[in-house]
Amino acid sequence: MRGWRIGFGARLFLAFSAVGVMTVAASVIAWLAFNRLSVSLDGIARDSLPAMERATRLADAGGSLIATAPTLAAASSDDDRRHAWDSLARLLTDMDALVVTMAEHPTEAGNAPELRRLIEGIRSNLFALNSNVTQRLLLIDTLGQRMERLRWTHADFLDEVEPMIEDVRFTVARSFEGLRQSAQPEYTTLLREERLHAALLDVNAAGNLMVGLIARSVGLSSPDGIADATIFMGEMADRLRKNLTAITDLPGASSVRQISESLLGFAEGENSVPALRRRELAAQGEGQALLASNRGLVERLRTSIARQVEEVHASTAAAAARSAEAISGGRVMLIGTVFISLLFAVLVAWLYVGRSLVARVTALGQSMRAIAAGDLETPVLRGGRDEIADMAEALLVFRNTAIAVEEANAQSIIENTVAGLLTTDERGFVETVNPTARRLFTDAQSIQGKPFEDLLDPKAMLPVRAFFATNTTTSTGTALFVADACIIRADGARLAVDLAIRAFHQRTRRRFIVTLQDVSERAQAQELLERRVAERTAQLHASNKQLRTEVAERERVEAEIRQTQNDLVQAGKLAALGEMAAGIAHELNQPLAAIRSYAHNAVLLLERGRADDARTNLGKIEDLTERMARISHHLKTVARRPAETLGPVDLRATALSALSLFDGRIAQEAVALVNLIPAEVRVLAEPIRLQQVLVNLIANALDAMREVEERRLILDARRQEGRIVLTIADTGAGMAEATRARLFDPFFTTKEVGRGLGLGLSISYNIVKDFGGAIALDSEEGRGSVFALTLQET
Ligand code: ADP
Repeated sequence: MRGWRIGFGARLFLAFSAVGVMTVAASVIAWLAFNRLSVSLDGIARDSLPAMERATRLADAGGSLIATAPTLAAASSDDDRRHAWDSLARLLTDMDALVVTMAEHPTEAGNAPELRRLIEGIRSNLFALNSNVTQRLLLIDTLGQRMERLRWTHADFLDEVEPMIEDVRFTVARSFEGLRQSAQPEYTTLLREERLHAALLDVNAAGNLMVGLIARSVGLSSPDGIADATIFMGEMADRLRKNLTAITDLPGASSVRQISESLLGFAEGENSVPALRRRELAAQGEGQALLASNRGLVERLRTSIARQVEEVHASTAAAAARSAEAISGGRVMLIGTVFISLLFAVLVAWLYVGRSLVARVTALGQSMRAIAAGDLETPVLRGGRDEIADMAEALLVFRNTAIAVEEANAQSIIENTVAGLLTTDERGFVETVNPTARRLFTDAQSIQGKPFEDLLDPKAMLPVRAFFATNTTTSTGTALFVADACIIRADGARLAVDLAIRAFHQRTRRRFIVTLQDVSERAQAQELLERRVAERTAQLHASNKQLRTEVAERERVEAEIRQTQNDLVQAGKLAALGEMAAGIAHELNQPLAAIRSYAHNAVLLLERGRADDARTNLGKIEDLTERMARISHHLKTVARRPAETLGPVDLRATALSALSLFDGRIAQEAVALVNLIPAEVRVLAEPIRLQQVLVNLIANALDAMREVEERRLILDARRQEGRIVLTIADTGAGMAEATRARLFDPFFTTKEVGRGLGLGLSISYNIVKDFGGAIALDSEEGRGSVFALTLQET
């Protein structure tokens, strides 16, 4: 019973699941890192950027404030002042709104109270500046009005004083005239009048100077200058007052005094022009101080904003740093997780799949191959608790079964074999004996356990012992010992055997198998055989002798036959000659008749003086005699006795020569002749006899076509398997089976008496045979015949 176990399917599933879990972990880490990054970026977008924007706007407003405040301070009209003040109020409102918004955001709220305080300070400073400017403008206005009044008062003064001066000057002149004319001049009056005149001029001068000083004081820009002018004005006032007292008696003096008092009002007291101018300058100075303090406040505001900007910047940088940290942390963790999962995958692949699975499967595969190849001793790697272990177990069972089957087979082979077999241990002691061997020894039990060499005759004993001794020390399993020997049976009888001893390995054990073949019967059979061979040899000798006699007889008969054949050939030739002679006579008759007629005509023509026509006739006679000469030439060659030696013969030339004998017939009987024999084909033959054969075959073909409509004679020659096959085909009557069967028999003919001897084909057959060739026929009744001569090519 097998315990609980995890197969490699489950192991691989677990391994891949682990890798999968690590991949999921890596993804979660990446997700978390990205999430942190997203939160940081969100924070930057939501808080830092608007805070920066607000700070910038606040700083801008501060800048505008600094730019606009001097415009307010320097306003030269109430309109300018109002305009500047409106702009500043708007800026302050904007700043207030920004600070309120800042207070709502935690990152900026800390700085908001200070900003608010500073803005409040700026506001009150600007209020003060505004009221200062209002007051200064009011003073300028008042001063303007006072100066206007001064001008009018000065005019009044001049209007009063100048006529009075004229009057006094006239009175003085008159008195001076009277004084000159009088004998006793009264100088006292004149002196008095002169004093009045001087006082009045002084009043005029002091008044004018006073007006000039007052007008100058308006243009003075320093309090010291104003103070100097005031002192000078005081001196003038004293002088004016003193001279006013001096002219009190003059008519109109009271009016001058009144106007002079008014003038002095412009130079002295709280509302005097210098006092107003002093106040204006003080207001101006105050305004500049307020402006400076305003600049200071705005600078502080700017510093505060800069600090806030720095804080926002720092918090943004911190957020960016956090993002970077999130990214790098996530990256490190991601790389770590990926590395671990890769390491794990590699370890699984290398340690488990590679070492445990692949290595074990490979080892098991090698064991399987070795067992399949017959090496049943191959060790089988066991161990483990998975499917491979099951396979190893199954392989072991298979191997053990194979060993058992092999042993059983070996045993049954040994038992059933016809030869006598016995096995020994490595020292040569008999272990097993098969039935045949048991029969050879007659008493099997007694030989088991004995040294095998002791069972042999002394002649074989020593070499066998030596073989066993050497083979126990060598490792070669195929060593073989073969010998003819005799075994000693239990009854002491000797039995001849073929002995073969072979070393073999039965798995790790080394043993010997001894084959014993009983050769006693074989020796008897051998003896019997030898006796029979001797008898048979004697018989053969006798028949050989007889055969030699028969051969000599046959040779003699053959020589006779050949002689007869030669005679027959000659006879056949004569017969052909006869036939040919008839033909030639016919052939010659015709030209002879023509020659006679041409000669006769020539004579007639010569007699009539037609020499040219006679020459034509004589030319025709010449042609005819040439043709006749050709015919007789053929006759000569046919009549010649053939040479005995064979040699190369031009097949086409020979065929043409044979055909030329039938020119007349071919033309007369309207036979279409097709000669396809190529030039330059040479066969081994004797030219005259070959021509004889061809003449025979052509003559037969023409004979066969005598009665048919379509007459065609076709000659052809082809190379076939290194030989030349010459065919002579006709479209004649063909041959019936009975004719074909006897065709080459001598004296067989179907022709009427006198036309054929029946020797043509029989002679041709033998001639072709002499050439080392053959003659064959393909014929069908009513379709024509084809004779094929096979000849050796040279
Ligand atoms: P012969 O020509 O004198 O009869 P052959 O031996 O030449 O003797 O021929 C024997 C016979 O074979 C001829 O009588 C004829 O019947 C037959 N024979 C030979 N050649 C042909 C042929 N080409 N076509 C038909 N029959 C033929």
